[in-house]
Amino acid sequence: MLEADKTVLSTCPFCGVGCQVNLHLKDGTIYRVDAPFDMAPNYGMLCVKGRFGTDYVMHPSRVKNPMIRVNRDGPRSAPPQWREATWDEALDFVANNLVRIAQEHGGESVAAFACAKATNEDNYVLQKFIRSCFRSNNVDHCSRLCHSGSVTALQLSLGTSAMSNSIAEMEHLDTFIVTGSNTTETHPVISNFLKRAVRKNGAKLIVVDPRKIEMTDFATLWLRQNPGSDVALWQAMAHVVVKEHLYNEEFIIARTEGFDSYIESLEDCTPEWAEEITGVPAEDIRQAARMYATAKSAAVYWGMGISQSVHGTDKALAITNLAMMCGQLGRPGTGLNPLRGQNNVQGCSDSGGLPPFLTAYQRVDNPEVLHRFASDWGGVDLNPVPGLTVTEIMDGALTGHIRAMFIMGEDPMTSEPYLEHARHAMEALEFVVCQDIFINGSGEMADVILPSTSFAEKDGTFTNSDRRVQRVRTALAPIGDSRPDWQIVCDLALRVEARLGVTQSAGFAFSHPSEIWEEMRRLTPDFGGITYERLDREGGVHWPCPSLDHPGTPYLFSETFPRGRGKFWEVDSGFDSEMPDEDYPLALTTGRVLYHWHGGAMSRRSNLEVIWPEATVEMHPEDADQLDLVTGDWVKVSSRRGEITLRVLVTGRSPAGTVFIPFHFAEAAANELTTNMVDPRAKIPDYKLCAVRVEKAEAPPDRPGREIPLTQRGAIKDRAVQIH
Ligand code: SF4
Repeated sequence: MLEADKTVLSTCPFCGVGCQVNLHLKDGTIYRVDAPFDMAPNYGMLCVKGRFGTDYVMHPSRVKNPMIRVNRDGPRSAPPQWREATWDEALDFVANNLVRIAQEHGGESVAAFACAKATNEDNYVLQKFIRSCFRSNNVDHCSRLCHSGSVTALQLSLGTSAMSNSIAEMEHLDTFIVTGSNTTETHPVISNFLKRAVRKNGAKLIVVDPRKIEMTDFATLWLRQNPGSDVALWQAMAHVVVKEHLYNEEFIIARTEGFDSYIESLEDCTPEWAEEITGVPAEDIRQAARMYATAKSAAVYWGMGISQSVHGTDKALAITNLAMMCGQLGRPGTGLNPLRGQNNVQGCSDSGGLPPFLTAYQRVDNPEVLHRFASDWGGVDLNPVPGLTVTEIMDGALTGHIRAMFIMGEDPMTSEPYLEHARHAMEALEFVVCQDIFINGSGEMADVILPSTSFAEKDGTFTNSDRRVQRVRTALAPIGDSRPDWQIVCDLALRVEARLGVTQSAGFAFSHPSEIWEEMRRLTPDFGGITYERLDREGGVHWPCPSLDHPGTPYLFSETFPRGRGKFWEVDSGFDSEMPDEDYPLALTTGRVLYHWHGGAMSRRSNLEVIWPEATVEMHPEDADQLDLVTGDWVKVSSRRGEITLRVLVTGRSPAGTVFIPFHFAEAAANELTTNMVDPRAKIPDYKLCAVRVEKAEAPPDRPGREIPLTQRGAIKDRAVQIH
């Protein structure tokens, strides 16, 4: 066996589980990845992405030098022509343009997308740069597109927005609900803990999902609701709890407000009413409500199936209402747990990467908070008005309100809904900077590319889904002339400050990410007890952790909620999504597969691409038979907004009438089809439901396709399950 030159402990760069990884290096290359058996949160486990997917770090298409677009006069969507530039030239070019635009159109014409893949320190300095140099709070990131429904609901009800309980508690669960989360594919290591809870602990699992996901094999009860009908289901469960007096009166009186008016709104939400809407038998709804309410402890885990909806906030509020009603909060094994997607989507939000919040959800419109930050940042004049969200920024580009965009590690041209709309928005911008490790679809439309380092070439911290802050450590020298994101942003900020004539810098002269973390700690009571030294010693610490002698907080709400009393909210169970009709008779839902990650920028440049090389549209056998389709046939899938061509995978995972397309594949981008209708409060798009049509098609000449790999054909097992 090869002997490593060195082994570096770090954190997996893919999903929000935050698995600890040992990166084994030989001759400057990561040749093996495994996991320490004695460290939370994964205790030796890794999924296929963490174990075999990190070779993207060495991919030949890494951007190695700053690049300036030569053909800047034509449309952005024209094929880009690049020339290499020095760092000084590229950063001066960016600084000149951002300052010019801010002076001509106001600072709020500058917006930034922070990055859920970058470190806390990277994101902190980016939002500090935009807020302090341009007096613009237009900083957001892809949390808007994945869990803002959950974040908004939890903020409204409880005053916070993270997972309330730790991954470590999962093995010991008594009863739990998994809803809107294909956990085995999106959070594989967490799914192992959940399966263990069932197998070893005898825990009772209720799955609420229209798709037949693997977790249904472990469920005591599977409620297969019609897509988009979730609110009615949760309301009916709450109705049962009230009518059968299963609620926790002591908890409601001591810890909550608004219960009486809420239960009035439940009066007509009978299980029979919900059966009509959801398709779930009323008796199953009753059984689920009883199991959850009477359990010694019960937790809910959910994913984007809940939040990515025009009713995302209502869905998460309905779940929160039920948890408060039953007192299933504030103890181990209880709680409300939105499973966060990307490796550092929690940390990016915690670090100030959301328009209304500075670090740890301290609001920009709170004068005391703003004064504290402004004083620390050299007495700068900060804007007290919350900025625009991702979706509003894209709309703002079309109205001319937003003129310049700084995109750090994101790819709106894959992740935005209704990509044609996003394309127009990008075209309308005066100046676009992409800072990334690869040139992605958005980078191809940029004026400048600033090459950053991957997770393996920098120090810093990620915060995983259960609020555990963990170290990222340098294993490799930067590829080419790339630099860590924090370093690029700080260098740029100093150049912008000089051009603006700032006499007292807000403070960007950092020499190591630990110094940035120390500033975050100083300004953030919840991070006060977390230091690099402590992270190195303990492996990770759950925030809130207000002091050095505080152990961290694996589960929240034992005494109180951040807003004081938990608040019940009435919810709307209406259907405002685009529903199937005569012209577009099938419902489309989008999501992830085990072998790829997000827009595919990393996983599609890794070994994982060999295992799962192309997009497929999953169809139920009944729908496939009607259209005379079999697995491997080429089809055109179209919606009112666009069309894509890809191959069919016949499975029983989705119910008849619903098709599923993963969103990792730019050549058949699911978001060409999705709608940009958004939840009115969270502004999250309706990625999980729109109407489409499927028709037989010819293979695109440039994509001959190959035999569908066995991994994908495994879905045939599901066909058998559904057919008999
Ligand atoms: Fe990485 Fe998530 Fe897989 Fe763990 S479960 S190895 S964090 S992708």
